[in-house]
Amino acid sequence: MKVAVIGSGFSGISSACFLAKEGYDVTIFEKNNSPGGRARKFESQGFTFDMGPSWYWMPDVFEAFFDQFNKKSSDYYALERLDPSYRIFYSRKDIVDIPADFSCLCQLFERLEPGSSKFLKKFLEEAKYKYEVGMRDLVYKPGLSFFELLDTDLLKGIFKLHVFQSMSTYVRKYFKHPQLIQLLEFPLLFLGAAPEKTPALYSLMNYADIALGTWYPNGGMFKVIEGMVRLALSLGVKFEFNSTVQQIIIEGKHASGLVVNDCIIDFDYVVAAADYHHVDQNLLPASHRNYSEKYWQNRAMAPSSMIFYLGINKSMKNLLHHNLFFDQDFSRHTHEIYGKPSWPTNPLFYVCCPSKTDTSVAPKGQENLFILIPVAPGLKDDDETRKRYLNLVMTRLEDLTGQSIRENIVLNRSYAHFDFIADYNAFKGNAYGLANTLLQTANLKPSIVNKKVSNLFYTGQLTVPGPGVPPSLISGQVVARELIKAQRAKENVN
Ligand SMILES: Cc1cc2nc3c(=O)[nH]c(=O)nc-3n(C[C@H](O)[C@H](O)[C@H](O)COP(=O)(O)OP(=O)(O)OC[C@H]3O[C@@H](n4cnc5c(N)ncnc54)[C@H](O)[C@@H]3O)c2cc1C
Repeated sequence: MKVAVIGSGFSGISSACFLAKEGYDVTIFEKNNSPGGRARKFESQGFTFDMGPSWYWMPDVFEAFFDQFNKKSSDYYALERLDPSYRIFYSRKDIVDIPADFSCLCQLFERLEPGSSKFLKKFLEEAKYKYEVGMRDLVYKPGLSFFELLDTDLLKGIFKLHVFQSMSTYVRKYFKHPQLIQLLEFPLLFLGAAPEKTPALYSLMNYADIALGTWYPNGGMFKVIEGMVRLALSLGVKFEFNSTVQQIIIEGKHASGLVVNDCIIDFDYVVAAADYHHVDQNLLPASHRNYSEKYWQNRAMAPSSMIFYLGINKSMKNLLHHNLFFDQDFSRHTHEIYGKPSWPTNPLFYVCCPSKTDTSVAPKGQENLFILIPVAPGLKDDDETRKRYLNLVMTRLEDLTGQSIRENIVLNRSYAHFDFIADYNAFKGNAYGLANTLLQTANLKPSIVNKKVSNLFYTGQLTVPGPGVPPSLISGQVVARELIKAQRAKENVN
């Protein structure tokens, strides 16, 4: 059985590995010249930049992935737990390091809000329960029917999962100090939704943050992609780069093949691991699309990002590997992303300086800076706007870290909506796919099966279980399992 996978991001490579392991003949078609999708890297002037993900969270999910192939992450890359996990700048004078050690974190909570450490313990016990139930009973479900949710501990423990309460209300039930609230709401940025719109089920992300920790694969996040590519090749997966899929060829209710770089290639199955909206709206005839353009226009998308990859020709002080700049009004920025999409007035931003941990990502004595501003998807992005935001961020970064930076920039590349669309066919230039709101969770997400084309499946951050590297790995596994099940059912009928 020949399977075509469209896209070589985490979800595409993951699905390819599971299918190849079952004996399928798998080819991945990737429009770009290298694997990884949003997790690609670029190298210039001695700097190596991870283009997308930089937070390695949920190490258990990566281990579970490699374990299915009798491998470990350490067969491909070396992991290091970061301590402190990250630094938060609330103001120039108010800078807080989040320690990896739980008792130190309790002391920090006590300092900011006396008596709060006992609530933190309770909050985390509940988050642990959600993480364990979520990982066991929810994220590996294909999301094909509401009934999937009925047969498990999910329903028994539905009230303990806080599905019908917002994160915003839930966090405030335990904590009053604005800095603690911000600290606990920050992981939701990974889910692409506002705290008011996100079910408190997702406090499981706080368990991931605080209990499971922040890790770094030496050499950068792209080492994970390199490891997965090695694994895929060893299983017989073929990679075709610079290969744009232009069309999925339909015969009746069946996809018979793909048009790739103007050539027709026949396949028995297609796994679409490129952005769902692009595949659905651009690669299929209107009669065989799963959803209408109106449906897509009504989805709540996760944010896009304005990113600056900077090479700095000196050592930077007062920065750790991960740094969050929460010195401005969180709710205003959130409103400018989700409420009334517009360029943010005074955005929060994130700075990753991996050269603090890893000397291989910058020339000696220099620093690698990745700056990310979450912004609404669908905005008009141009050079003038990029310059304005680099300037704005520089002014704040120089002030908050107490040093000059501008004149030390020796490499400067920006990346925003336009690039997400050009490089990944990203709907509205989104960075992280679909927001994880209650109405876009589990079987309410775009389906992994095409209802009109029996051998076409979808995977990736716009379908179950959602955005982020660990969910994309899981998504690939889930879709491979459904494809294998469909093929077995067909064999049994014949
Ligand atoms: C800036 C940024 C920061 C992030 N930070 C984190 C983080 O710190 N931690 C975390 O866990 N997650 C993070 N994420 C999210 C995470 O990177 C994504 O959820 C994940 O990588 C998505 O994988 P995917 O396989 O669904 O899609 P993608 O990686 O987008 O892969 C899709 C692939 O399909 C290809 N493609 C598209 N159209 C075609 C076509 N017609 N023909 C052939 N190929 C095509 C694209 O080129 C791309 O390679 C971040 C994302 C971004 C953008």
